[in-house]
Parts: sequence; C-alpha cells; structure tokens
Amino acid sequence: MNILDMANSFEKHICDKADLLKIPIGATLELLPLCNMNCKMCYVRMSYEDVISQGGLLTKENWFTLLDSAKDAGTLFLLLSGGEPLFHPDFKEIYSKAKSMGFVVSVNTNGTLMNKEWADFFVLDCPRRLNISIYGASNKTYELLCDNPKGFDQFDTGIQLLKERNIPIKLSCSLTPQNYDDLEKMILYAQKNDLPIEVASYMFPFHRKDNSVLKSENRLTLEQETNARILYEKMIYGEQFTDKAYASVYCNTFDVELPSKAPNSGFTCRSGSSTYWINWKGEMIPCGMMNHPKVNTLDKSIQESFQVMKEEISKIKRADTCYLCKKEYICQICTAATLAETGKLDGVSEHHCKACDLYLEKLQQYLDEHQIKVKEEN
Ligand code: SF4
Ligand code: SF4
Ligand code: SF4
Repeated sequence: MNILDMANSFEKHICDKADLLKIPIGATLELLPLCNMNCKMCYVRMSYEDVISQGGLLTKENWFTLLDSAKDAGTLFLLLSGGEPLFHPDFKEIYSKAKSMGFVVSVNTNGTLMNKEWADFFVLDCPRRLNISIYGASNKTYELLCDNPKGFDQFDTGIQLLKERNIPIKLSCSLTPQNYDDLEKMILYAQKNDLPIEVASYMFPFHRKDNSVLKSENRLTLEQETNARILYEKMIYGEQFTDKAYASVYCNTFDVELPSKAPNSGFTCRSGSSTYWINWKGEMIPCGMMNHPKVNTLDKSIQESFQVMKEEISKIKRADTCYLCKKEYICQICTAATLAETGKLDGVSEHHCKACDLYLEKLQQYLDEHQIKVKEEN
C-alpha cells in the first residue's frame, strides 16, 4: 500500500528527500467507510447506521480545512480513498478543490459506479491515476465476494469508458478464496486491456476493524497464497523470474554479505516518516491497516499531528528475530502485518515465517524442474 508509487522518477527523488527529512509529503484521505459493495474481506466498510452512531461523516468544509493544513505541512501527493470515494456526496467538490490547490491527486475506486458522467468529470480534470480494484473475472465471482451480481459488467463498462478517454488506470487485485480461481483470467483481462495490475495474495486479519482474526474462509491457504505470489511474479518478471528465483534461493543457502542495515525501527516503509493516513473521522494513523498511533487532526494542524505520530512511531522497534532474519529480503512482513498477525508491534508472525519457507521451497522446485543447480560463487 504505497501512496507514492505513482510518482515519476523526479518526484521519487523528492519523496526520498522528504523521507530523510521526515516531511509528510504523501497522504491518503479515507473520505468515508461507506460503499456500494460489501466484500467479505473488507476492513473498512460500515453500515450507514453505524457511521451515524459514531458521529457521521466529516463535512466537505472539514476536508477543505484538512487540505489547507496538509498543504502547509508540505504534502504534495494525495490519494482519495474509502470505502468507495465516488459514493461520497461531496466527492467532486473535494477532488476539484484538491486539484485546484496543486496536489497530485490519485483515487482508489472499485470502478462499479463509473459511468459516462463520472468519466467525463475525470477527463476534464484528470487524476494522476485511478487505482481500480478488480475482484473477479465474472459477475458470479463479484456476487460471491462482493455481494454485487452485476459487479464485473459494471467494472468493465467503467474501464472501457476511462480507457476511451485515456485516463491513467492501475488495477489492484486482492485475492481471497472466492476469487482465487479467477487469478489467471484477471491477469489476462489486464493484459488484454493493456493495464498494469498489482496482485496482493496476502490478506491482513481484521486488526483495524475489530481486532478479530479474518475468518479463515475469507483468506487463502498458505499453499494458495504462495502459488499466487509465484504466478504473479512470473508475470511481472517474465524471463528474469529465473534469475530472481536463483538469487532468492542462493541468499538463503549461502552466507551472503548484505548491505548494512538502517537501525532497527518499527516501519520498513514510508509510513510515519513521509506519509500518513487520515481516516473518515479525521484521525491521523500511519497507514490504513493500523489503529495506532492515532492523532485527532480536527483540533491540531497536520504538521502538529504528524509530529505527535512521529514521536510515537520512533518508540517502535521490530523484533530482533525479524530485524536480523536472513529471509527478510523475501518476507512480506511489515509493521501493520506484524500487529495484525500477532497483536504486538514487536511480534514475529508465524504466518509470514511459514510463507517464506514455502515460497523458498517452491522456488527450489522451480529451479530443479529447469535443471538449474544453485552453486556457491568463489
Ligand atoms: S505498514 Fe505495511 S500495510 Fe502499512 S503502509 Fe507500510 S507496508 Fe503498507
Ligand atoms: S469495494 Fe472496497 S471498500 Fe467496498 S466493500 Fe469492497 S473492499 Fe470494501
Ligand atoms: S516474519 Fe519470520 S521470515 Fe519474516 S522476517 Fe520475521 S522471522 Fe523472518
């Protein structure tokens, strides 16, 4: 979940500087937890009644004030998210205001509400990118996973309207048991439409929502998760997948001197050092998968809130087992995942340890099938 992955190379240079100087350059604004769909693995969605009972949505004026404050704090990149942001009654005004203030704006959407009117709106004032979730390759899968029996057709109509207008799109796919069998078809859909796709085979437990564990029927088995990771990497790396497999197995088999590490700090991503997330209540959190540390931005500026969050984050350390782990280079663990899996910020996720072992085992099998022997270099 990287707010800044849409940046071009010059912008990435600015982001690296911001990271070093701890300037909050990227923000995700979670405008609402409401959605027109109801996905089984969703950690954000709430009913309208629950939203009202927790104080209701922020007003557009609240968001305008937050935008002013974000600009003063040095924020440049904004990702508007939800729930489903197009479901927000004031989305167009908030979006246009952010664009007119000079923010580089991207939007996360499930794409099923996209019609001609929305596509014309976006073409007039184009976002940096629309990140559109793909949940399956048929209406049947959308019904099973998202409770929307027309979801795939709606999504596809949206994609075609946006493509006709040359609006930049990236597809994101979260895999669950309900759409696992559609994985190849979803990748083919992306390729047929000449669109980039990112596949997340690891699904977080519901730590943020209610501290409960994601029901196992909504999460892939380790075997499925690993197969999906390898299938996706084969697609991304093409012929270089073999080199990647070789390097991964090599580093695990022999003693390799890896580049010296940064000191042990809780976060290995940009969260809390140059990016932040504002949830639908106006609370700042490091990323959308976490509930802590949390700072109310409605009575403080973004700059002040970020300072408080940074101080809290500086106290976090990862478990030494992870910090010193030889498999860290292939492990998909992060602070949010550690918290979600173990209930602690310095825990060791058994799920991720097992996933790494299985991943390496499957890479070794792949090399054996291609009669490639991993040899120690002198
Ligand atoms: S803590 Fe994990 S989930 Fe959150 S932004 Fe960082 S990598 Fe993504
Ligand atoms: S489309 Fe996204 S926000 Fe809506 S229910 Fe599904 S996962 Fe949640
Ligand atoms: S979760 Fe396990 S495999 Fe991953 S870095 Fe920590 S100890 Fe290593």
